[in-house]
Amino acid sequence: MNQMDNSTLMQRDLKVLWHPCTQMKDHETLPLIPIRRGEGVWLEDFDGNRYIDAISSWWVNLFGHANPRINNAVKTQLDTLEHVLLAGFSHEPAIRLAEQLMQLTPPGLDRCFFADNGSSAVEVALKMSFHYWRNTGRSEKTRFITLTNSYHGETLGTLAVGDVALYKETYEPLLMKAIGVPSPDCFEREPGESWAEHSEKMFAHMEQALVQHAGEVCAVIVEPLVQCAGNMRMYHPVYLQLLRDACNRHNVHLIADEIAVGFGRTGTLFACEQAAISPDFLCLSKGLTGGYLPLSLTLTSESIYQAFYDDYEKLTAFLHSHSYTGNPLGCAAALATLDIFASDNVIENNQKTAKAMAESVAHLTDHPHVAEIRQTGMILAIEMVKERSSRTPYPWQERRGLRVYRHALQRGALLRPLGNVIYFMPPYVITEEQIRQLAKIATEGIELATSTD
Ligand SMILES: *Cc1c(COP(=O)(O)O)cnc(C)c1O
Repeated sequence: MNQMDNSTLMQRDLKVLWHPCTQMKDHETLPLIPIRRGEGVWLEDFDGNRYIDAISSWWVNLFGHANPRINNAVKTQLDTLEHVLLAGFSHEPAIRLAEQLMQLTPPGLDRCFFADNGSSAVEVALKMSFHYWRNTGRSEKTRFITLTNSYHGETLGTLAVGDVALYKETYEPLLMKAIGVPSPDCFEREPGESWAEHSEKMFAHMEQALVQHAGEVCAVIVEPLVQCAGNMRMYHPVYLQLLRDACNRHNVHLIADEIAVGFGRTGTLFACEQAAISPDFLCLSKGLTGGYLPLSLTLTSESIYQAFYDDYEKLTAFLHSHSYTGNPLGCAAALATLDIFASDNVIENNQKTAKAMAESVAHLTDHPHVAEIRQTGMILAIEMVKERSSRTPYPWQERRGLRVYRHALQRGALLRPLGNVIYFMPPYVITEEQIRQLAKIATEGIELATSTD
């Protein structure tokens, strides 16, 4: 029998795996944690240590690990149909999922195109927008407008419309040139200025970019309300209202990338609801399957769909596909996830959970190394700084966030700070007791990480 403990598995792993988003040399000193099982908010490793999954395993998990209801749905589907191609063929879970999402998403999104990961859903939206304008005689529209500090995935197309330097800069020579507009990020607001005032003021930059570039622009792409990978920076819904109106006036599409913020993260089922807008494209993934399986989709309007609908010889069709597009197991997990939303009053109950999250860290508000605690719904972020009044950041090389990560692991929590931003984005099944536990661990971690110059 092979020995199954953390250290044996870590050694085997490090001989053969290359991990995502990781400088592998870090693992000379940083433990790699092999997970044996999950249950609810808990992850358990091979030495029997347990960790609260405070970041929902990269923002995907909604209703806990090994959720019995989603498990059953996937098991039933597995014995029925594991996969079939979605070109020329179809299956009931995909149809039912598309039907249900049309009811739940903002009005006017009447067509569902499936893919299998978030980046691909964004690629689909970018290609469809460009292709729509081409099919309607506007082939000079070839560019995209994006916000600074935005993130839309890791493929070359999505990196091009993103703006997180750490992921993007190296590949810059390979990327199409997007038009960058300053983000409405409210961390940057003036003292005394409200979120709404700041976000509204920042819209002037977008209006200016549209006036200047609309003729060559296919679409504006945004992450509604929270730029998650961009250190959980947040803005006010008024920006989305102004943006919807401006895109209409300038004849440019609006792509809402709700891959991270969809399915209740911001306090409403979809973030766009808070601005009462419908985008021309809505990209969904991550929470879509409750965090179970890779699945994504891009919703769009009937009128955009119709611009592709013609005789084959006209060559206007959208000939894009991925092997696992619309996988039935993923669709079954997604349907079970939507069932839980429908039957368990999730959005309403989350309001209490969100309030408990806020209260749990209120004592850090005036901490000398905390510049801001911000929250949108079920996403709460604590920004650590070297000097509070001037908001001087710690040099990134010091990796203060990593100290919090290490401490949390020792104390039984998976917190994975983004730079110097510690955040909670937990599964919705987290209890108030567990939230208090997390807050305690995060507080200790912040004290530890900020106690030396
Ligand atoms: C995670 C994420 C993506 C990319 O999804 P993947 O499944 O990781 O390719 C795109 N946009 C946003 C806003 C995300 O958070």
